[in-house]
Amino acid sequence: MFSLPSFPKLLVIAAIIAVVWYFMRRAKVAGTDQGDSQQNRAGTAKGPAQKPVEDMVQCKSCGAYFPAKSGCSCGHSAN
Ligand SMILES: [Zn+2]
Repeated sequence: MFSLPSFPKLLVIAAIIAVVWYFMRRAKVAGTDQGDSQQNRAGTAKGPAQKPVEDMVQCKSCGAYFPAKSGCSCGHSAN
């Protein structure tokens, strides 16, 4: 016949479950941390902080501001 496990047995089973759950949670957290840091690095690389600042110059022809490396939309170049 099926008999209820004794209290010490239940305690051991609970301890095993707790240990397994603890390590599973730790592994999950470690994986999440790695993913987060990788995502953060990728996000920083794509973020506006890493975007090179372009010097804006005023067009001598039409007065509009445009990046110094490129020309004005009116066709006038920076140099
Ligand atoms: Zn212009």
